[in-house]
Amino acid sequence: MRIINLYSKLQAAGEAGQKGYAPYETDPELRPLARHARNWEMDVESAREWLASPEALAQRESARRYLEQAPAIVHRVEAAFGRELPGTLILAPSYDEFDGFARYELGEHTVLLGIDYPGSDLDYLKALTAHELSHVYRDHAPEVWRHLGKPLSEISRREYLDASSAQEHLVSEGLATLFSQLLFPEIPPVVHHYYDEAEWRWVEQNHDLIHRSLIECLNDDANVWSYYSDSRVAPGSPSRTQYYWAARVLSERIASIEDPSKKLRALVELHERPASHFNEFSGRSGS
Ligand SMILES: [Zn+2]
Repeated sequence: MRIINLYSKLQAAGEAGQKGYAPYETDPELRPLARHARNWEMDVESAREWLASPEALAQRESARRYLEQAPAIVHRVEAAFGRELPGTLILAPSYDEFDGFARYELGEHTVLLGIDYPGSDLDYLKALTAHELSHVYRDHAPEVWRHLGKPLSEISRREYLDASSAQEHLVSEGLATLFSQLLFPEIPPVVHHYYDEAEWRWVEQNHDLIHRSLIECLNDDANVWSYYSDSRVAPGSPSRTQYYWAARVLSERIASIEDPSKKLRALVELHERPASHFNEFSGRSGS
């Protein structure tokens, strides 16, 4: 996967007195990002202002360490998947707005990581990289979108989003959460779920409640995205309980495998199965 260090390039452009979107016109590596950069309003001035803020300065050291290690981290992910991943990984200032997301368009993925996201550290960024790249691998596995009846390169962003069912969402987020845990087992589970200690305690103590809530949701309107909200399961429940639940449910499939490398390989194979393979998320079983 191609890595673009937009963070350092915008920083240098600011120091060199460049303006607006000039780096996206003068730097050949940044030229393909020009359209995205305008949509995301990542011009030189806004970057300079953000990078000088106390919040960004507090993250500068962990961002620097991550930048140093990013190629090795991506290599470790690709080695686990046994292939070089398609697309571009953009390492960017976070503007306190995003930590990471994968954007699909016509067979290509652009993964954007906000490497100075407030409160993040090297472990957090490693887990996040593995998580987002797990989505990329799954989306490019031939079986996953075969039901759309055409090659991925011809599938538009709109078609892709429309085809992202509740089941696909749960499978994809569950696998991504599990994958980062298996790839970096030395990083505590709470980090792989992007929770603080209190949020982690809540999900651990309320697993049955979360389970019943999601089964009920799948049998009702299946709006599993509503679990991005706080207090969706019960008052005080944290965001993203659907990730926690999906990861825990999917972990049953590989629970009996003890050897860590075999376990990882089995998880990679699960990435290649279409959503219809995972009857765990059909909603029919209330057990
Ligand atoms: Zn995800």
